[in-house]
Amino acid sequence: MSPRPDPPEVDRVAASRAAIAARRARAAVKKAVAERSRSALEVAEAAWSDPTSPEGTLRVRELLGSIPGLGPTRVARIMAQLGIADSKRVGGLGARQRLRLREWLERREGRRSRLVVLAGPTAVGKGTVSAYIRENYPDVLLSVSATTRKPRPGEIDGVHYYFVDDEEFDRKIAAGELLEWAVVHNSYRYGTPRPPIDKALAAGRKVLLEIDLQGARQVREAMPEAVLIFLLPPSWEELVRRLIGRGTEDSEEQARRLETAKVELSAQDEFDHKVVNADVGDAARQVVDLMDAPGRL
Ligand code: 5GP
Repeated sequence: MSPRPDPPEVDRVAASRAAIAARRARAAVKKAVAERSRSALEVAEAAWSDPTSPEGTLRVRELLGSIPGLGPTRVARIMAQLGIADSKRVGGLGARQRLRLREWLERREGRRSRLVVLAGPTAVGKGTVSAYIRENYPDVLLSVSATTRKPRPGEIDGVHYYFVDDEEFDRKIAAGELLEWAVVHNSYRYGTPRPPIDKALAAGRKVLLEIDLQGARQVREAMPEAVLIFLLPPSWEELVRRLIGRGTEDSEEQARRLETAKVELSAQDEFDHKVVNADVGDAARQVVDLMDAPGRL
């Protein structure tokens, strides 16, 4: 076998010229982001429509590093949170990583996130607000949780919850099917199935999770691009009235929930936004307004 001939000199020169031009083009993209003449999100979108473009061959680390105010330490932390390896190029990201970077950039640029977590103290009316959203905003996917508690009268399996036994709940945890899960009110387990959420977000839909505080914290860790909303009662007295007035729990359970509510109220400052639930329609509109992300995938 004869050795492969070297490429002609002229090809090598052309290749190195092309490499220099590509580097220059990437430097110009970074400069535009640093000078705010282009947003990082615009650059990412250009990268995804043509992964071979200067935007597409730019490393994620370099893109984030050119955003004014982001130093290398923060960039490294953000990339770890988003689950993006240090060497990744913007155009080379997989679908889930693109989605997460997009959501993160949208939030950073003051746009809204399509993934919203609604939490708040017990009996504040999270369930009523989310039911209102389900009925009046059909474009919002309301996540259906799995729970080990038994259905209440009128609750439908697969609509209000997936009612499962302990064994099935264990299986879901082991299979990594839950985005988050928690024991709520020291009694039953509740968890958010992950696949429907990923699918809806990938299709550009808005997704709402109505979960407890422990779950909200886990979502913040797992998906830092999510927006966390805390639903507040108009007053503490009103919260107590709603809790007692619901009449679905015995007095021991009521006392336990009141205690949980006090602890939960003290966590409100961890949240991105607070919405007061004085009027259900009003509160629902405010929640949906916070998830109206422009843009597409
Ligand atoms: P309930 O038993 O009254 O339907 O709900 C009790 C609590 O469980 C509510 O505070 C509700 O927000 C919370 N919850 C419902 N689904 C989930 C979930 O998937 N994960 C977590 N962490 N909490 C949930």
